[in-house]
Amino acid sequence: MTVPQIAHPEVSVVIPIYNEQAGLAALFARLYPALDQLGTSYEIIFVNDGSRDNSVSILAEQFRKRPDVTRVVLFNGNYGQHMAILAGFEQARGDIMITLDADLQNPPEEIGNLVAKMREGYDYVGSIRRKRQDVAWRTYASKAMNRLRERITNIKITDQGNMLRAYGRNVIDLVNQCAEVNTFVPALAYRFARNPTEIVVEHEERAAGESKYSLYSLIRLNFDLVTGFSLIPLQFYSMLGMAMSFVSALLVLVLLARRLFLGAEAEGVFTLFAITFFFMGVILFGIGLLGEYVGRIFQQVRARPRYVVQTVLQQKEDLQSPAPSGAEKRRVGRPHE
Ligand code: UDP
Ligand code: MG
Repeated sequence: MTVPQIAHPEVSVVIPIYNEQAGLAALFARLYPALDQLGTSYEIIFVNDGSRDNSVSILAEQFRKRPDVTRVVLFNGNYGQHMAILAGFEQARGDIMITLDADLQNPPEEIGNLVAKMREGYDYVGSIRRKRQDVAWRTYASKAMNRLRERITNIKITDQGNMLRAYGRNVIDLVNQCAEVNTFVPALAYRFARNPTEIVVEHEERAAGESKYSLYSLIRLNFDLVTGFSLIPLQFYSMLGMAMSFVSALLVLVLLARRLFLGAEAEGVFTLFAITFFFMGVILFGIGLLGEYVGRIFQQVRARPRYVVQTVLQQKEDLQSPAPSGAEKRRVGRPHE
């Protein structure tokens, strides 16, 4: 069934693309039928995050095939998945915003379930992967981070790594007002939701190509999440510092007493080394952690554009319809290298 498309569709789907040429055809083959089947008006916004492969020409070709429901935002460089999603949100006009990955790990057929849940009156529908299809170390590391985030923030997301989510227009208007340089979209949006819920979804193995996240970029992303939504790590260090000062003061007293009553102590040198190195590690980590916060403050105050949109491929009619509220102000930041 084809539904006449209107300037303000019910559903906007935002998909970030970074070097996904190998899998795009398969994505289109499942995504468009899944959305046509919903029987509602929709638009798909692909945001090309500075791909260096053929993704752009494949996206342009797809835009020519389905210009009524397709728009393509082209960045001039690689700014990261979350910036790409934010750029998509700025362009999106729907009442229900869906995000998903381009690699088919999030089955497009689940979009219908998200939309159905949103129509029940929720303004944030998260999703929990029934069985995650990723390499083991990532699954475990991600679970551990999920638990840590659960403890140090007041964001309640069961499965934070999954991008297949739906957001209401009220939530996205607020997200669009934020000027955060380093952020984590599902957590930021959660902050603004009045009535969030979650559903269980399927998860598949990457259809083609490789993960675009290196260990380094994963660590950095997790720091974005932690520093962006919690000050507890800093407070933990203050507490640890106080506890250590107290314990070492006791140790001084004990050693002093020992010196006075038992004489000089010469053994235990290597134990002392071990303890010293351990605490050096703790201190270095503490300084690094502080740096993670300070560096982000620095990026924020420089207030450079968060990303640069080179071109938007869209129909003329789309161009004329007004952008959604609060779309102008914000953009500060730096590209991911
Ligand atoms: N992505 C992006 N910019 C980046 C890295 C990734 O736009 O710098 C996109 C990528 O094309 C995909 C989504 O973000 O659509 C998730 O990436 P990926 O599947 O590689 O991550 P993983 O599933 O391994 O966490
Ligand atoms: Mg993936």
